[in-house]
Amino acid sequence: MGGGGRSTPQDNGYPQLNFTPKGTQIRNIYQDRIKNFTATGQYEKVNLRSMFTSDREAGGDYVKMEVYSVPDLARPLFHEAIKNKFKPTSKGQSFGPSWSTHWFRITITVPERMKDQERVQFNWDSNSEAFVYTEDGEGVQGLTGGGERVEWIFPQSWKTDGKPHTFYVEMACNGIFQLSQADIVAPNLEAWGLYIDFWIIGDASREFPATSWEAHAATQVCNDIVNTFIPGNQESVLKCREIAAKYIGENVSSPKVYETGTDPLVFGTGHCHIDTAWLWPFDETKRKVARSWATQCKLMDLYPEHRFTCSSAQQYKWLEKYYPKTFERVRQKVHEGKFQYIGGSWVEHDTNVPSGEGLSRQFLLGQRFFQSRFGARCQTFWLPDTFGYSAQLPQLCRLAGMTRFFTQKLSWNNINTFPHTTFNWISLDGSQVLCHMPPSETYTAEAHFGDVKRSMEKHKSLDQDNTSLLVFGKGDGGGGPTMEQIEKLRRCRGMSDKTGLLPRVHMGNSVDDFFDRLEKKEAGGDKFVTWYGELYFELHRGTYTTQSNNKKSNRRAEIMMRDLEMLATYASIRVPTFTYPKQDIDDMWEDICLMHFHDCLPGTCIEMVYRDTDRLYATLFKKGKDIIKRATDALGLTNTPDAGTQAVVMNTHGWKRTEVIKVPRQVAAANYSQAADNDTVYAVAECDAYGLGSPATVLSSGAAVTAKKADDSSYVIQNDLLKATVSNGIVTSLIFLPQNREVIPKGRKAGQLVMFDDQPLYWQAWDVEVYHTETRKELNPGSVSILEAGPVRAALLVETQISENSWIKTTISLEAAIGGAGTYLAFDSEIEWRETMKFLKVEFPVDVVNTEATYETQYGAIRRPTHYNTTWDMAKFEVCCHKWADLSEHGFGVSILNDCKYGFATAGNTMRLSLIRSPKAPDGNADMGRHSFRYAMYPHSGAVGESTVHTASDFNNPLQVYHSRYGADTARAQDFLNTVSVQKESSIILDVVKRGEDDEAISVGGLPIRKGSSIILRMYESLGGRASTVLRTKLPVKAVYKTNILEDDLEEIKFSEIEINGTAYHEICVSLRAFEVQTIRLQL
Ligand SMILES: [Zn+2]
Repeated sequence: MGGGGRSTPQDNGYPQLNFTPKGTQIRNIYQDRIKNFTATGQYEKVNLRSMFTSDREAGGDYVKMEVYSVPDLARPLFHEAIKNKFKPTSKGQSFGPSWSTHWFRITITVPERMKDQERVQFNWDSNSEAFVYTEDGEGVQGLTGGGERVEWIFPQSWKTDGKPHTFYVEMACNGIFQLSQADIVAPNLEAWGLYIDFWIIGDASREFPATSWEAHAATQVCNDIVNTFIPGNQESVLKCREIAAKYIGENVSSPKVYETGTDPLVFGTGHCHIDTAWLWPFDETKRKVARSWATQCKLMDLYPEHRFTCSSAQQYKWLEKYYPKTFERVRQKVHEGKFQYIGGSWVEHDTNVPSGEGLSRQFLLGQRFFQSRFGARCQTFWLPDTFGYSAQLPQLCRLAGMTRFFTQKLSWNNINTFPHTTFNWISLDGSQVLCHMPPSETYTAEAHFGDVKRSMEKHKSLDQDNTSLLVFGKGDGGGGPTMEQIEKLRRCRGMSDKTGLLPRVHMGNSVDDFFDRLEKKEAGGDKFVTWYGELYFELHRGTYTTQSNNKKSNRRAEIMMRDLEMLATYASIRVPTFTYPKQDIDDMWEDICLMHFHDCLPGTCIEMVYRDTDRLYATLFKKGKDIIKRATDALGLTNTPDAGTQAVVMNTHGWKRTEVIKVPRQVAAANYSQAADNDTVYAVAECDAYGLGSPATVLSSGAAVTAKKADDSSYVIQNDLLKATVSNGIVTSLIFLPQNREVIPKGRKAGQLVMFDDQPLYWQAWDVEVYHTETRKELNPGSVSILEAGPVRAALLVETQISENSWIKTTISLEAAIGGAGTYLAFDSEIEWRETMKFLKVEFPVDVVNTEATYETQYGAIRRPTHYNTTWDMAKFEVCCHKWADLSEHGFGVSILNDCKYGFATAGNTMRLSLIRSPKAPDGNADMGRHSFRYAMYPHSGAVGESTVHTASDFNNPLQVYHSRYGADTARAQDFLNTVSVQKESSIILDVVKRGEDDEAISVGGLPIRKGSSIILRMYESLGGRASTVLRTKLPVKAVYKTNILEDDLEEIKFSEIEINGTAYHEICVSLRAFEVQTIRLQL
């Protein structure tokens, strides 16, 4: 046929006629239908749930149980507990009271009919945490209760041998609980597998965008499964799983799902956050650690891809001590690379309140523990749940051998959204760490579809890198990943490779692998965006103040340890009979660091925890006092005057000081200037740096301080530097005489106590919220009287009734202006505090203009705004300070000193020190009762400088009175104190003098010793400018090294020898950049 002809269309088989109507799918109806397939409730007997269990033996002769209920809320260990008499018990019984422990001896025989089941397990649900032990006392797995983690899988042999087997369950009650399950169960693993398949595909149907084909395909797969399922029919379950595989792939029931060679984006790591104390005491944490970690070791056997990351040397040490068999299992898993220790610190500590040295000790103790037990240190600092991050942490991490930092708490900010996921975080001195905050915004992810999806959606650093960590597992109270969570991640990965759209999750790596890859990618260290200075947390601002007695103990302990280590070091080097108490010092620092824990020191634990810390601090102070006494004894100083002794005053600080002190009446001159009380008189003592001084009890002429009544309601106290007018109990004028300058703005009042309503949105002990400042009420003093009229010290007593049950007595005092004394107006307070949700602060309006105030922080100072220009500025309406806060302008400034407080606010020209709170949860009695604290107003010439740093240090550690056994010859004791001295005054503070950790004579084992003796000197630049100084010592120094805080030698430093008055000295020149922390080791 030629072209142009007409052809007849061929029939391609598409049906011509249709008499089968089909409607569009109504999305929400079908999605609700999906939910019903796995829901509890009206359909559970006919939906997938009806097939979860293949067989169950709920008691009878197959399960025999006896119980020993431990009296007195004790927590005996296994071998102790099982010696007791056990009584028969059964399912359905209730156990209590809160915090009690019950041990169950359980003997089971697996019924013969279950011998062919794939898995047979014991299901135990006491609605409380429990721990399964083998008959010979190895804790093998934790159980959670309340339907979660209720199964313990029997060893394979128990299924088939037909024999009785005995094991134990330790039940920890935190309430009164009923034992609702104690059954032998054979689970239907295919039905359970389908349940997880269906869960994840159902999530894809709901959570993928409705505009995506992937969401609609998921809905169709789910509906196909529901249509295919026949209750009671195992074949139908298998068919359903085949349908699921179309969407999530074939390999989701094995770790093979991860072996596809495709590039992962989200790196999953199992984790369990165990708060070292919070809504439970330390003793319960010891058990939580054993339960949780034993469970994870078991999961690693079931799931080869499972990896588990956990921090806190303290928790490992407890496990080693109380559960040695479980510790051995953990150690084995560490060697296999599956159990991954991390963090390098003693606990996951607070970083606002501990001192610089406190933070350093976290790393020193932590890294030494990990190295001694597992052979290597940590590379990544790990603090997911701490309430704000000190600006000096990057520097300290680097000095502790760590280049990376993991956290996430800033995702809780309730004002501004933190803008980065992966970034370089930079310290005050310029040191950086590579920081990652998981975009899933949690450290206790449930490994949900949504967690994986958010890992990309909420990633804020995609311009630089698109990978992230997903940290999953039950947490806060421990637990860690569940089987369900690990199974869900397999489905998520399968879905990414088969269908797409979900970021590809991977298991089997470590957190360090994740950071290794990032570091390699950005080897220059300058590709990621940067964040300079503190990571201020815009929430939980009440934690600078809550549980104030506990914070005071921390401050006292840190200050005590400085003197203790310095004195013990010199005594051990120079007095042959004195042995450096290394073990005691380690124990004390371990306890201090334990109590730095991120709920403990912030004040957010239950009352029971603070009774424990009160006891720990009491023991610590007793031990510390004893060591200081032994060390000063060795140096020829005693605490009590005797015939032939001479009263001396000891200065452990590196600058000259003059202070007013109290000395026993019997050592005073007969014509002393002023009595302090029946037993003591005031003296003025002048001391050289690291020196001894003699207290003079007769005031030299011309320096006196006076207190006088000015009129009916006013008093004036005055020395040569300051003139304070106190009207109706409040300071209405303070003149700084060297500049003849009024410090207080006209009409304003300093030392004014103010009360605020303190009802945050959610978390009472944690938060003080922005609106509290709107409820300010002034407290009006009741009576004012002259307590002391001079000439050495003048003081007014101001008594204020706060409410029916609360009062405060404030002593406003000024000392004679002699040497460096009498430079500040001091306020000593004693308070009886019985309030509810009130916040007490004290105000200091000052006539100073600056848009920034300066606050002492660890190893330095930080500036923060005094205005509310932006929401970032405004969010800092309450901030953390250490011993001082300062508002200065050119030529003049005012520092507010304190001896135990940490909360502060500077709004415009009003400085406010936070004194005490009264939250009612989680401790209903937090801060109730008696407290004492001191603060001071210190006007100074010039902007903030060394005088503020020194004065605040002195304010916290007053000169100590001793009695020299060498009588008037104090040169010998002076010589001891001066063993090492800083020669040139500068902003460099010699913060720590201690012995080398591994010195052969004092090492307490664990790590290789170092020959000879060494002295460690840690100093820092305190004000933010390059500084240099000279260290001088008479000791026979062989070599000098710059080290990190772990005391690794970094570089050898030259030293010189000089001769002064016939004595040979060694001198070492040191130079520090702004805010640098530097450690020097003198090898003797
Ligand atoms: Zn926590």
